Amino acid sequence: MQTSTFVDDWLCYNTILGEGAYGEVKLLIHKKSQEKIACKIIDHHKYKDASAAINREVTIHKLLDHENIIKYFGRRQEPLKEYIFLEYAAGGELFQLIEPDVGMPPANTQMYMKQLLCGVSYLHSKGIAHRDIKPENLLISIDGILKISDFGMATLFRFKGRERLLDKKCGTKPYLAPEVLQRPYKAPAADLWSCGIVFVAMMTGELPWAEATDKNEEFLKWKNDIYISETPWAKLGNTALSLARQILNVDSMRRLKLEQIERHPWMRLEFSFVISGNPLIRSTENSSDSSEDGSEKPAKRWNSMVEAETRMNRDTPTVTQSQPTISHRHSTIMEAVDSLRNTRRDQVCFSQPTQNEDLVLQFTQSPITKDNFQDLIKRLTRFYVKTGLEKTLEVLCTVLDSLHYGWTTDANGAVSVTTVDSCKNQLTFKANLFDMDGKILLDFRLSKGCGLQFKKKFLKLKECLSDIIDNKDVKI
Ligand code: AMP
Repeated sequence: MQTSTFVDDWLCYNTILGEGAYGEVKLLIHKKSQEKIACKIIDHHKYKDASAAINREVTIHKLLDHENIIKYFGRRQEPLKEYIFLEYAAGGELFQLIEPDVGMPPANTQMYMKQLLCGVSYLHSKGIAHRDIKPENLLISIDGILKISDFGMATLFRFKGRERLLDKKCGTKPYLAPEVLQRPYKAPAADLWSCGIVFVAMMTGELPWAEATDKNEEFLKWKNDIYISETPWAKLGNTALSLARQILNVDSMRRLKLEQIERHPWMRLEFSFVISGNPLIRSTENSSDSSEDGSEKPAKRWNSMVEAETRMNRDTPTVTQSQPTISHRHSTIMEAVDSLRNTRRDQVCFSQPTQNEDLVLQFTQSPITKDNFQDLIKRLTRFYVKTGLEKTLEVLCTVLDSLHYGWTTDANGAVSVTTVDSCKNQLTFKANLFDMDGKILLDFRLSKGCGLQFKKKFLKLKECLSDIIDNKDVKI
């Protein structure tokens, strides 16, 4: 793969695209060519143990070149900071497209499953296991193509034709195959199990269990075949359930192999309603009369589920058990507003010394405006409000307090929210307020935790903020 030498100016947007284990991810745009790339910024001062992990990640990532895998372009190392340059996925993360408790249309699930399997097949053919497949690590390009990202846990399981069993317990609990928790395990089968959980999440908007161990009641029911009438399984048609059953086979030796998954009847069903080129626009046009099992129109079933979900969210407020970190509200809000204003005034230009560099020579921090906002990741977790900056912050923080979510504000004026999800795992997300030519855009982004649970909380917050939401300005 060609690694280009960056010799000209790159604009680096202030806004963070996402947060990884060792730092932030930002968008860079080339001043002349307008080429966009993502830049992972690793803070070695803050994360002393980052070096070895990043070196391992880069060693593997730079070997890869496939349409369904985020491309690695290069890195730049400094004593305290490191920059990793990656293909930019403007469509955001896959979980953004999954409606909590509903999922996404089966046609979209099938398309993403095919792309995911294609990427995983390539990885496995190179002897590499990803070991952390989940919707948060599956990004979507501007053209709606799924891209596997984050090789922080990846490892070589086959070298010169010799396969080894893996012994390290790593990944994200709800997506881990049962044998990974027992060890040692075969890498390819474990990755496929995670793909099976992603399949269920896309089809139903739910994760079937918090962990695949005998301590977990839902998993035990699945293992012992007493699950069929329960959620999420009851939401699947027979063919989809058969696929789930065979990918999520507890016996890894009998679990479907990748080519068998690709040949499964569900993967070959023809869903005839249009999938928009942009995955963020759900189209239900031209829907056919038959669903995967001939039971109901997929588009109709999906729409009615969305309606049911919206009703349910309205009817059943979530009570969380988090402890709020209550700051002095008035001063916190004022601080946030001030810092937001100051940040937006700043146009920090940090030129880098030119010797010994093969990557970025100059960065310019650039503020977000209505004109360049379209360059940033598309998210479904943002909306315009009718209120001004201060009022929006005040209403937001009041709602957060009423829901018993913990919150603090940072130097950039972003509100950092901490709560727990329904599995009692920590969930952290950020709310950023952008002043777009006088109109305030409220943008929510996951920092830590499960994407599906984050979307649930977002819907709850959106409902609570409905009085200030500007429904007229839907183009974001
Ligand atoms: P990571 O450090 O790989 O876990 O990335 C953390 C978050 O940053 C992801 O969940 C994405 O939201 C965002 N991100 C990472 N890589 C990219 C990319 N190549 N393009 C766009 N966003 C990205």
